[in-house]
Amino acid sequence: MSLERLWAGWRNDYVAAAGAGAGQPHDCVFCRIAASGPPSAGNGVLWKGSTSLVVLNAYPYASGHLMAVPLRHVGSLGDLSEEEAGELWAAARLGVAALDAAYGPDGINLGANLGEAAGAGIPKHLHLHAVPRWSGDTNFMTAVADTRVLPETLVSSWERLSAAWPSE
Ligand SMILES: [Zn+2]
Repeated sequence: MSLERLWAGWRNDYVAAAGAGAGQPHDCVFCRIAASGPPSAGNGVLWKGSTSLVVLNAYPYASGHLMAVPLRHVGSLGDLSEEEAGELWAAARLGVAALDAAYGPDGINLGANLGEAAGAGIPKHLHLHAVPRWSGDTNFMTAVADTRVLPETLVSSWERLSAAWPSE
């Protein structure tokens, strides 16, 4: 499925920032993000713990679409240590709480695509998606024009979610 954006001017900057940690043993966008330093609008990272982080999706299905990602390059749930699994879930909970506070959506899709056949874009580095949803948001533009309209930039989403991030 090819989807074009009506406006995606932020994407070049974001990819450039995420590539700042290039030189990793493998070419993995999540490993580059994990190595890109503390949370900032530049790297899109909203929160970073000792074994996981929360980052905005550079190709969001909706504004605020974020992901909880283990720092370590592991592809399956079974590869996570107990500590990693616990913190990944904690990260997902923080992200969902921030989405609720920042956007007040009618619902949130939270989940993972495990393996390429399940739709994982980056199957070798586990990640959980959290996508805010609204009643009636049947992806109208996608349906009619193979195009999505995103009402805000990634930087705006980052600022909005950071301001609403729950205190720990
Ligand atoms: Zn990785």
